[in-house]
Amino acid sequence: AKEKGRNNYQFFSETMNNYLKLRLEMENDLRIALAEQQFEVFYQPQYDAQSITIVGVEALLRWRHPTKGLLTPDVFIEVAESTGLILSIGNWVLMQACLQVREWQKTSGCAYRIAVNLSASQFTQSYLLDTIKNTLDVTDLPPETLELEITETAMLKDTAETIPLLFSLKKLGVRLAIDDFGTGYSSLSYLKNFPIDTLKIDRSFVEEIVSNTKDCAIAQTIVQLADNLQLCTIAEGVETSEQAEVLRKLGCAEFQGFFFSHPMPAQQLRLLLDH
Ligand code: C2E
Ligand code: CA
Ligand code: CA
Ligand code: CA
Repeated sequence: AKEKGRNNYQFFSETMNNYLKLRLEMENDLRIALAEQQFEVFYQPQYDAQSITIVGVEALLRWRHPTKGLLTPDVFIEVAESTGLILSIGNWVLMQACLQVREWQKTSGCAYRIAVNLSASQFTQSYLLDTIKNTLDVTDLPPETLELEITETAMLKDTAETIPLLFSLKKLGVRLAIDDFGTGYSSLSYLKNFPIDTLKIDRSFVEEIVSNTKDCAIAQTIVQLADNLQLCTIAEGVETSEQAEVLRKLGCAEFQGFFFSHPMPAQQLRLLLDH
C-alpha cells in the first residue's frame, strides 16, 4: 500500500509538472502573441429578429498561432485570465473592434453596434472607465454604438463597487449587456438596481428550445422579463430556422448564431454590410 501511495504521488507530481510546464509555455506564447500581433478579432453579426438585417456585431478573439493554427478562446482564455494578460489582450480587442466598426459605420452610413466581451478582471480593474473613455475618444465611436458584454458572475462579484461603475459607464453613453443570462447563481433583484440595456439569452436555453418545453419556458420568461424591464434581448447560438421561429414567436428582439452567420474576419464581414 505504501509503495502504491508513493507511485501515485510520483504520478501526480509528474502530471502536475507537465501541467505547470504547459501553462508556463502557454503564458510565454501569449506574451509573444501580443508582441507579434498574432491575435485577430473575428466578428459575428447580430440580426434584428423581424427584418433579419444586421444591427450589430460581436467581437470574438482569435489567435493565429504560428504552429497550432487558428485558436478559439476556450484553449487560452483561462491562462490569459490567471496571468493577468487578459488585461492587455482585452484592451487590444476593444480598441481594434471599435476602430473597425467606426470605419464600417462611416463607409455604410449605418450606426452598427459593436459588442465587446469584458472579462471579470477587466471589469474590476480600476481604470476600466478611463480605458473605455479613451477608446471612445480615440476612435470617435458614438458611445451608444458600443455594447459591453459582462457575465452575471463578473457583475455580481462585488456589488458595492459594481453599481457606481456601471452608472459611470452608462454616463459615458455606452450600452451594457448581461452575457450568458440565466446561467449564473444569482437572484434577479440586481436587475432593478443595475443600469442594464440587454439580456443575452444563453445558448444552453436555445439549443433544445424546439423540443424541450422547459428550455422554451425559460427563454419565454427571460423575454417577458426583459420586456417588462424595457431591456433588449439577444438569443445566442441560434443554429436552425426552427429555433429562430420559436424565438421570434416569443418576442426575442435579436438573433445571433451559426444559422445566420459564423464569426468571421473583418474583410469577410464587410461584404455582408450595406454600403
Ligand atoms: P461568448 O461571449 O458566449 O461568445 C459566444 C460564443 O459562441 C463564441 O465562441 C461564438 O463563436 C459561439 N457561437 C456563436 N454562434 C454559435 C452557434 O450558433 N452555435 C454554437 N455552438 N456556438 C456559437 P468563441 O468565439 O469560441 O468564444 C468563446 C468565449 O470566449 C466567449 O463566449 C467569451 O466568453 C470568450 N471571449 C471571446 N472573445 C473574447 C474577448 O475578446 N475577451 C474576453 N474577455 N472573452 C472573450
Ligand atoms: Ca459574449
Ligand atoms: Ca454569451
Ligand atoms: Ca455562452
